[in-house]
Order: sequence, then C-alpha cells, then structure tokens
Amino acid sequence: MRRATPLALLLAVGCLLASCSDSREPPSGNRLEPLAEPAVDGQGVEPVEPAPPLAEGGPRLIVSNKGVVLPVLGPAGDAFRVVTPCGNEVAASGTPLTSIDVVIDPGHGGEETGAVGPGGLREKDLNLVVAAHAARSLQAQDVSVLLTRRADYRMTLAARGLVVEAIRPKVFVSIHHNAGATQPSPVGPGTEVYHQHASAESKRLSGLVYEDVKGYLAKARNVAWVAAERPGVVARVGASGNDYYGVLRRTQGTPAALIESAFISNRAEEALLQRRDVQKAEGEAIARGIVRYLRSPEPGSGFVAPFSSSAPAGRGGGAKSCQDPTL
Ligand SMILES: [Zn+2]
Repeated sequence: MRRATPLALLLAVGCLLASCSDSREPPSGNRLEPLAEPAVDGQGVEPVEPAPPLAEGGPRLIVSNKGVVLPVLGPAGDAFRVVTPCGNEVAASGTPLTSIDVVIDPGHGGEETGAVGPGGLREKDLNLVVAAHAARSLQAQDVSVLLTRRADYRMTLAARGLVVEAIRPKVFVSIHHNAGATQPSPVGPGTEVYHQHASAESKRLSGLVYEDVKGYLAKARNVAWVAAERPGVVARVGASGNDYYGVLRRTQGTPAALIESAFISNRAEEALLQRRDVQKAEGEAIARGIVRYLRSPEPGSGFVAPFSSSAPAGRGGGAKSCQDPTL
C-alpha cells in the first residue's frame, strides 16, 4: 500500500473541481425548491452517541480508489474495516493517510441539498466547490489538506466527526451557506462563523477566517446584503451547555470553525455566489484565514457574545435513509 502523496491529493482535488462543475445543474428560475428552514442552517442533533473505537497501531484513515474518505476500525483480511459516510461498518481497501494539517468539510451532500436559492443554486454544490478551491489554495501554500467528502453524496455528522478524530488535524473548517434572513444588513455581508464555546484556539481560528471571508465579500459593489440576528463570530450552546452544532461538538480537541459565508436565499447574494470567480476567491479567503491561524499569532475579530438556543436549526446530518456512495 502506498501513501497518498501531496500530488495525488492535489490531483484528487482537481478531479473534484472538474466533476462538480460538470455535474452542476444550470440554475433554473423554473425549478424552485424549498429553502432550508428556519433561519440558521442546521447541524444541531444532540446528544452525541458514542463513536465506534478507531484502529490503534495501524492506519486510522484511508481514501478509497473512488476517493471516499473512510475512518478505519481495524484490519479485515487484506483490507480494512471502515465506517462509511452513512455510518455503516464495512470492509474496504484504499490508500492510508497518516498526517493531515487541515480537514475541510463541505456541508450537506446527496439528497441533503442544504439551502436552495431562489435561482436554484444548491448549497451542497456551492459548499463543495468552495471547499475544493480552499483545499487547492492551502496545498499551494504547503499545507496538507483533506476534504471530508469529495463528491455529491450524503454524509452523517457523526462520520464527519470521525474523520477528524481519525486524523487529528491542526484545523477543521466546515463550509456552509446560509438561508432565511430577510432583514437588510447594517454591517455589509451577514457572514457568521461559529466556534467551539470552550476553545480559545477555535475562537481565534474563527475570527481569522471571518476577517478574510467577510473582507473579501465586502468588496462586492451594490449587493443588497441581508443578516440574521447575530452576524459575526459566535459560540452557540444547546440545552446541555455543550456546543450546539454537531460538527463543532464532535470535533472537540481540534480547533474548529463552521462558516456560513453568505445568504444563498437572498437573490442578490445568490447571484454573487453563482459566479465562479467569487467561488474561487471565497475558497482562497477561507484558506488565507486558516494559514494566518497556523502561521501567525493574530487574534482575529468580529466576536459577538455567545448565546444559548435549542431551537431547531435546519435539517439533516443523521443516518436515516442515507445511501452510501460506491466505495
Ligand atoms: Zn448548511
């Protein structure tokens, strides 16, 4: 078994960029789909059920020949016993990964579209393209990076968390785009970045990513931005007092950020987000924030007071009716 080289990973990301461009349906004004609801995008499925124990001593993560990232539970003959994106335990083979600096998580996938804009732009597709651009930019700066999903398929929050637990990166960033807000924003882009409530490093990472993404978006002229109640960098805790968002709760121990860059549900912002140059620049902005986190002591900014809310925030993330991709 060979290890994946940085070049191999780069090529994988290149394929990803090509495939997701090809598979994207053209935005259609006729095919309206319901928006994710309510205002803030999902991920809140409490509590955390115990994860299966990962392999000790051998590889803890493999990438299958089809590019699917699979946490390893142990050996299975010549192959490995792995956890699939839907959380099933199966035998699979692939290339072991042992060390990664950054894990980027494109939110949603497959039947779980996430938010859908009035012009038909689907959050799952946008998240994946932006994530791939962020990954390519990080690799160009000698930062090794792994995407939790590299194509259009469902993946549970538990499986995303398990990828992080398996490889223990220096940084985890989950990429989302928001829906629901209709109020004109008094602060320009209504970018939100959520951090782990008890982690100063997660907060600093989030503040740096916020600066770069909001700073980039704010350069766009004549955009009628909207914002929800708390634009900025914030911790949201649930009824238990723990982080509300599953991908932040399940990655504790690794500095993590969940970014809602802009509102796909706002026609003006959707039009901006549909542009390939904007998608690329947004990914590069996320990468800049991550690199500043890794290589500088800068504190970040945009922090607002933490809040507690158990109100449901969007849909998805569970294993119900989840269909795994071909491994
Ligand atoms: Zn989302």
